[in-house]
Amino acid sequence: MQPNRRLSDFLPLKFANGQEIKQFSKPCVSCGTMLHAKDMNGVARLVEDHIAIAAKAHCHSCGADFGVACVINSQKQVKRVVLPRLLFNWYLRSLPLQERETAPQAMVRNLPLPEERDAREDAAELARMTPPASSMQPREIIRATETLGRFQEKPIPAWLILDGTRFEFDRIAPDARTQEGEYLLDGCLIYRAS
Ligand SMILES: [Zn+2]
Repeated sequence: MQPNRRLSDFLPLKFANGQEIKQFSKPCVSCGTMLHAKDMNGVARLVEDHIAIAAKAHCHSCGADFGVACVINSQKQVKRVVLPRLLFNWYLRSLPLQERETAPQAMVRNLPLPEERDAREDAAELARMTPPASSMQPREIIRATETLGRFQEKPIPAWLILDGTRFEFDRIAPDARTQEGEYLLDGCLIYRAS
């Protein structure tokens, strides 16, 4: 079994499609200070086309310790892991180095909407991102006053009305990558037409 190490020792990790994760950051759950891979101890592994992370972060600012367990796909979307972090950490450390058969995908699910309240906890900020311009340029944007939590100190509106069409919050995309029919708000929040 591999020992836990500073996460920064595992980076960069490269996906088969050439995308690379050079940095992994996450705000402290208690004070919001941005913590980086060097502040986290655990394991980061490339498993199939996912990068799986199970670590414990230590905030140098307020002293808080908290767990980080997530999987990043080759589109750099971050998903939460359902398994308890310690079990996931153990699983990742136990994988033989060349393991390719076992995908962590089975342990991952897309978050249903109410759990997006924890989105700030789920999201990792990936360095060196240049957000592509959103193709959608609505003239009028109405933001819901109802919010689903906060991400990087900004509220996440539950929905938007863009030129009269309602869009529901879909996900956080630290790489600002949108698909057809989606709208990018504040550089990282993605909404879909409902
Ligand atoms: Zn803190």
